[in-house]
Amino acid sequence: MDLSFSGRVVIITGAGNGLGREYALLFAKHGAKVVVNDLGVSTSGDGKDRKAADAVVEEIGKAGGVAVSNYDSVEEGDKIVRTAMENFGRVDIVVNNAGFLRDKSFAKMTTKEWDDIHKIHLRSSFIVTKAAWPHMQRQRYGRIIMTSSTAGIYGNFGQANYSAAKLGVIGLSNTLAIEGQRYGIHSNVIVPMAASRLTQGILPPELYDRLKPSCVAPVVLWLCHEDCPDSGGVFEAAGGLVAKYRWQRSKGLLIDPIEPQRVREEWNRITDMDGGLSPDSNADLLASVYLEQLQNPPEK
Ligand code: NAD
Repeated sequence: MDLSFSGRVVIITGAGNGLGREYALLFAKHGAKVVVNDLGVSTSGDGKDRKAADAVVEEIGKAGGVAVSNYDSVEEGDKIVRTAMENFGRVDIVVNNAGFLRDKSFAKMTTKEWDDIHKIHLRSSFIVTKAAWPHMQRQRYGRIIMTSSTAGIYGNFGQANYSAAKLGVIGLSNTLAIEGQRYGIHSNVIVPMAASRLTQGILPPELYDRLKPSCVAPVVLWLCHEDCPDSGGVFEAAGGLVAKYRWQRSKGLLIDPIEPQRVREEWNRITDMDGGLSPDSNADLLASVYLEQLQNPPEK
């Protein structure tokens, strides 16, 4: 089988349904040993049910793969990592996928609805990854996936809590990519769109059947493979369409002396995206300022 994960151990959070389930089945098919984590909650995060994880483990077993259930909440990431260590002795890959929604317009959103969504999507991605990190450092190898959303990138009505958390995981991944570099740890973000219980009634019905979770899983597998050189990237996957995001900024303008009225006068030039740049590190802004200073030294 090409793209082998033989000898690799993968933790997939929220793998009892939807996208996570699809990842678990495909990783196992490609030879990985899988920790199927799922608390078994509803789409709004209520309840608890071991059946979600067990059903996927059973399915993997029947297909000849190797998997073990874990029923802890991602808020207790150390227990999930312990399941991997106790059963398989290592952890190579963490796919942070578990999640639910608490949609409400911003005017009506409570602090609890904000906190609950931040806990599950952003804080728990930190907690699970943090528990796996020392093992990856020691092995000098690791692959991490954060799950974002177009809601995080563009915003979405009724999802102030979710969109903020989903953009947060991109910042987290970008920093892990920098800090993981010397340990052979890569971190990337997937921006999926797929038919699941979470998106039922939200995605356009004419596209629902086309947007299969199985169209997202191959992208996640490749990003987690030892041969994939990318780290610090953000990738979109939906219905077989795969694409990479990057930041774009206008060329900008050095205004000296800078005053409010001058900003107003130059606004069209400042916001003109023609000839824009695609910076990929925080050194780019400083470099741009230096360059502008060199080319247009301030008048003495
Ligand atoms: P899903 O509801 O089908 O699956 C999510 C799973 O996470 C469920 O099985 C649930 O029990 C589990 N879970 C929830 N809270 C948990 C907790 N505290 N601990 C452990 N498990 C928990 O949803 P999905 O559509 O497969 O979404 C998976 C991820 O992808 C989510 O992070 C979601 O925000 C993100 N996402 C999905 C889409 C999409 O189109 N489906 C789009 C953008 C982002």
